[in-house]
Amino acid sequence: MEVGFLGLGIMGKAMSMNLLMNGFKVTVWNRTLSKCNELVAHGASIGKTPAEVINKCKITIAMLSDPAAALSVVLNKDGVLEQICGGKGYIDMSTVDPETSCRINEAITSKGGQFLEAPVSGSKQPAETGQLVILAAGDKALYEAAMPAFDILGKKSFFLGQVGNGAKMKLVVNMIMGSMMNAFSEGLTLADRSGLNPRDLLDVLDLGAIANPMFKGKGPAMLQNNYSPAFPLKHQQKDMRLALALGDENSVPMPVAAASNEAFKKARSMGLGDMDFSAVFETLKVLKHSS
Ligand code: NAP
Repeated sequence: MEVGFLGLGIMGKAMSMNLLMNGFKVTVWNRTLSKCNELVAHGASIGKTPAEVINKCKITIAMLSDPAAALSVVLNKDGVLEQICGGKGYIDMSTVDPETSCRINEAITSKGGQFLEAPVSGSKQPAETGQLVILAAGDKALYEAAMPAFDILGKKSFFLGQVGNGAKMKLVVNMIMGSMMNAFSEGLTLADRSGLNPRDLLDVLDLGAIANPMFKGKGPAMLQNNYSPAFPLKHQQKDMRLALALGDENSVPMPVAAASNEAFKKARSMGLGDMDFSAVFETLKVLKHSS
């Protein structure tokens, strides 16, 4: 099967490499074109623009940072819209808000193309090992046509109905995750400041009802101030912001998520946006020094 792939950041690089390694023909494009080199060394072709990739491939996947990037790659000069037409499918796997997804859907379908949103749950390592959870919505026929690729990229795919539902599901999941990371950071800090060994806390948590892969995976690195990015903090804060907007629209009070968003904003103001989202832990250390 041949696919196009737009956006070779942490996730896009791992996902496109995974497709290549599993026998797909892949044509890649990235805004910073030099990031294509590693994929080309493993057999990928390059498209010089998103339009060129769409022209070449029947199905093209995008994995871009945020709503502005997702829209610009479709609508700008040399973008997806210039070449999309009947018989071609566009799958946006970026995490965006439902409105952005709907705008892209309208643009693509107005030219006769098929559109599917398919954000993913799971980070760098699941992307590398094909263990993502795919949250798709939109064109059912495109979903079915893309299944061979989804089977490589993910351990489970959900079809959630109309465009917007995939984005909403992804934002709910990441809203919960961001709030959990803040509670975890506060717990580690409280354990430390009250005279406990935070490593003991990790062991206790891991044996109880709130054990989870995130605490287990991130905790030891956080205690060593290691925030090598798997999920950049700036993207987690974007997701909190978009989830809070969804809460506004639906009159859902979310005081825990709102407070967590403030902590991620604080971390961004400290220059931690490109670090892993677990670096929100550092905001509590600053409070310690300033008290
Ligand atoms: P990333 O490493 O920051 O990569 C972002 C990608 O978007 C890069 O290819 C970047 O190109 C491109 N980009 C940014 N602005 C652009 C613009 N204006 N025009 C064209 N391309 C642009 O992010 P990531 O971690 O791979 O995440 C990608 C998406 O997946 C985000 O929506 C994120 O929320 C979501 N996600 C991430 C994870 C994770 O754990 N990392 C997990 C699930 C979902 P350049 O290389 O030129 O900068």
